[in-house]
Amino acid sequence: MNYFQMIPKIELHAHLNGSLSNQTLAELRNLKYGSYGNQPGSDDSFYRITSKTNLTLQECFQKFKYAHDLTDQPDTLAFATRKVIQEFAEDNVVYLELRTTPKATAHMTKREYLTTVLETIRKSQTEFQKITVKLLPSIDRSKGVKEAEENVDLVLDLAKSYPDLIKGMDLSGAPFGTKFSDYRELLRKAQSAGLKMALHCGEFDDDEEVREMFEFGTDRIGHGTFIKGDNLEFAKKAKIPFECCLTSNVKCSTTDDFGVFETTLSQELFLCAKTFGLTPDQIIQLEERSIAYTFASDDEKRALATLFEDFRRKEEEGEEYPPSPI
Ligand SMILES: [Zn+2]
Repeated sequence: MNYFQMIPKIELHAHLNGSLSNQTLAELRNLKYGSYGNQPGSDDSFYRITSKTNLTLQECFQKFKYAHDLTDQPDTLAFATRKVIQEFAEDNVVYLELRTTPKATAHMTKREYLTTVLETIRKSQTEFQKITVKLLPSIDRSKGVKEAEENVDLVLDLAKSYPDLIKGMDLSGAPFGTKFSDYRELLRKAQSAGLKMALHCGEFDDDEEVREMFEFGTDRIGHGTFIKGDNLEFAKKAKIPFECCLTSNVKCSTTDDFGVFETTLSQELFLCAKTFGLTPDQIIQLEERSIAYTFASDDEKRALATLFEDFRRKEEEGEEYPPSPI
C-alpha cells in the first residue's frame, strides 16, 4: 500500500455504473451469462475494452453499455454495488456518496432497482465497517420530465425507510437539448423534503443555466468545468464546493467514473500532488476539508474528523507509514 492509499479519503462523486472495475465487469458477465454462450462482446470486444486503459470515447460508451446490461437484474446489481463499495474501502476511502439513476429493466422495476442498491449498502455497512456509504439517487435529464417525476416520488417514498442512506439527489445525464428549468420544481420538491442537491452543473458553456442552478440553491457543483466569470465569483463567495476531477481543479475530491477511466482516488491524489506541487500534508487537508461538504449527519462528520486526527497523530509518532513519494 503506498502513501496515498494510506490517507483516509472522502469520495463525493462516484457514479455506480461508471465505478465498475474491469475485474468486476468480467465477474458480472460470468454471473449473468455463465462462462459460455452468446454473450455480448463475444466478438472479443468485451475483453479488448475491459483490458485497455486508454479508451476512445466510443469505447467508453460501449463500456457503459456493458455495465448497464450487466446490472439489469437484482443479483448482478447487488453484486456490482457490493464490489464497488469493497474496492473503495480497499483504497481506504472512509466516506462514499454513490449515485445512480433508478432503472426499470426486463427483470426489475425502478423501486426494485433502488431497493436492491439500498439493501446492499445497508449490508455493506456491517461487512466493511471502515467505510460509510450514502446514496444520491439521480435524475437523468436526458430521459425527460415524466421519468424524473417518477424518480422523485420514488425517492421521497424510499427516503422514509432509508433516511440514514438517502441524503440527497443528483441531476446528471447528457444536458444537450434539455433545460434545467424543466426539472426545477421537481428538485424543489425533493429539496423541501430535506434532501441535499448535488447537481451536475456547468458541464457545457451556458452561464444562464449555471445562474439558474445557483439561484435554485445547489449544495454542491458536479464538475463545473465551464463555470467562469461572475458565476465563478459567486460560487467562491457562497463557498459552493466543486466536485471535480482532481487533475483539473482542486476543491473537493472525486473520481467520477473510476472504472471507466480505471483510476482510483489514491492515484488521483498522487497526480494532484504532483501536478500542483502540493505536499502530502496539503493533500490530507484537502480531504479533511471535504468532510464539511458531505451530506453526512453531524455525528458522522465528527467521526470522520476523528479519523483524520488519528491519522495525523500516528503519522507524527512515525508509525509504520511508508514515506511519501512526493
Ligand atoms: Zn459525474
